[in-house]
Amino acid sequence: MEIPLQMSVRFYNTLTHQVETFTPQDGKTVKMYTCGPTVYNYVHIGNLRTFTFQDILRRWLRYRGYTMMHVMNITDVEDKIIRNAMEKGMSIVDYTRPYEVAFLEDMATLRMEQPEKIVRATEHINEMVEGIQTLAKNGYTYQSDGSVYYRISQFRDYGKLSHIDLAGNKAGARVDVDEYDKDDARDFVLWKSRKGDEPFWDTPLGLGRPGWHIECSAMSMKYLGATLDIHTGGVDLAFPHHENEIAQSEGITGQPFVRYWLHAEHLMVEGQKMSKSFGNFYTLRDLVAMGYTPDVIRYQLTHVPYRNKLNFTFDGLKAAATALDRLRNVKLRLETTRFADGSSPDQTEAARKASEAFDAAMDDDLNTAGALGAIFEFVREANTAIDHGTFLAGDVQPALTVLAHFDSIFQVLAPATAAGSISDSDVEALIAERAAAKKAKNFKRSDEIRAQLLEQGVILEDTKDGVRWKRK
Ligand code: AMP
Ligand code: ZN
Repeated sequence: MEIPLQMSVRFYNTLTHQVETFTPQDGKTVKMYTCGPTVYNYVHIGNLRTFTFQDILRRWLRYRGYTMMHVMNITDVEDKIIRNAMEKGMSIVDYTRPYEVAFLEDMATLRMEQPEKIVRATEHINEMVEGIQTLAKNGYTYQSDGSVYYRISQFRDYGKLSHIDLAGNKAGARVDVDEYDKDDARDFVLWKSRKGDEPFWDTPLGLGRPGWHIECSAMSMKYLGATLDIHTGGVDLAFPHHENEIAQSEGITGQPFVRYWLHAEHLMVEGQKMSKSFGNFYTLRDLVAMGYTPDVIRYQLTHVPYRNKLNFTFDGLKAAATALDRLRNVKLRLETTRFADGSSPDQTEAARKASEAFDAAMDDDLNTAGALGAIFEFVREANTAIDHGTFLAGDVQPALTVLAHFDSIFQVLAPATAAGSISDSDVEALIAERAAAKKAKNFKRSDEIRAQLLEQGVILEDTKDGVRWKRK
């Protein structure tokens, strides 16, 4: 039986420029890859907008009955990292690890689920080298000064994601830097030969380090296979990073790399993209220190659909706090008012309609604004009915269920107990991850998790019956 369109999840696919019905390849498990942060500093809330979008996406796909196999990388080797680590006279690991830990903390603070797998670039150098060797065998590379480049004229589909015109592209012109603009589409570097005192790896390709783009092809395909269901990132990554990922991955396997490309629009400040290089950014820690709570920040980052630009303002944060208060107040009212017995058909119908409208909006390319609209409409009607005494005791549970369904995706109603405090479910998730790490004898990771929890005020106690935990 065909699924009615309004019941199915639909996404805008950057590759086809169309909204398409989504189904994973095997009908059950969503193989999804997310370009993770470059850990050369704290992430800013622009970065976190893209990561909260991915969290909403995961939660919605799970609600729709799919299992997630979601992989996110940590970019812990690239130009900026090497520059900064060398300036400070530190190793890459010593320089990047605190920022990686801080990023995972920020995710937990914003109530994001952890992807099923988080992987570091520096731990996949072999896979990258093997990928480059296959590309060489397949005729896509050439060497210059000991570095290896991808010859983009060799890949017929180059430009298919970002729809760039390669007419003016000069054969043999190449770039060594990890980031460059669309009007500078050129052969890009896969392997950089050792330069000066830069960190390097000794590999069959010679002494050197990988370019940025190859890491995501190597890691995504290692854990998810040749063809992924979904690949996400911010719009700025579509070119050159994702275009190059396609050229590499399809050049290696000869198979389609990604079925659905989803890109989140930017968080803006006064008409400009929030960015480290413009200096117009706030970290989550900045805002929390100013007294804004993570639930309010999460609401602010998610209330505009991911494909629209979102303007960051402090007035916007205050409006988010007011909106949240309204939702919490009605919840409290429902929980504490003594209503007359019975239930009213109007309220039953209103709850049903609200859930349906919420689901329809979310199915429609994660239209979070539409979904919130349905919830606020429902809240307005419920408040009016309570004022008029037409809301009855039997109407309470269906109304609370509507709110709980909303919150299972948005994750904003539980008040922040202390700024930045971690939720019980996130504590449990980290404890489970720690147990798995211990079982795999990865004691470094299990110690990291204990330390991370301690920093968030959670104390673990290993007992013979398992792990107990309490808050400080
Ligand atoms: P980076 O650490 O620079 O690789 O960025 C991590 C993620 O944040 C990527 O998916 C970027 O596309 C995304 N990103 C960067 N700036 C912004 C912004 N102002 N708004 C939304 N997402 C952004
Ligand atoms: Zn990537």
